[in-house]
Amino acid sequence: MKKNILQALHASGIGAHSGITATYHRIKALFAWTGIFQSVESFVNKCQICQQAKVEH
Ligand SMILES: [Zn+2]
Repeated sequence: MKKNILQALHASGIGAHSGITATYHRIKALFAWTGIFQSVESFVNKCQICQQAKVEH
């Protein structure tokens, strides 16, 4: 469930692989659960595409 939300709002066309803060605010505006920020943080940190983007920087 959370993973699907994170996937939809971070890794989809809407999310466009935004950073942790931007993704967090987007999710927070639509959903609420305990530890949203930690969920977003670990999801983005594990995101392969974001990891690759960081390396290229
Ligand atoms: Zn990503």
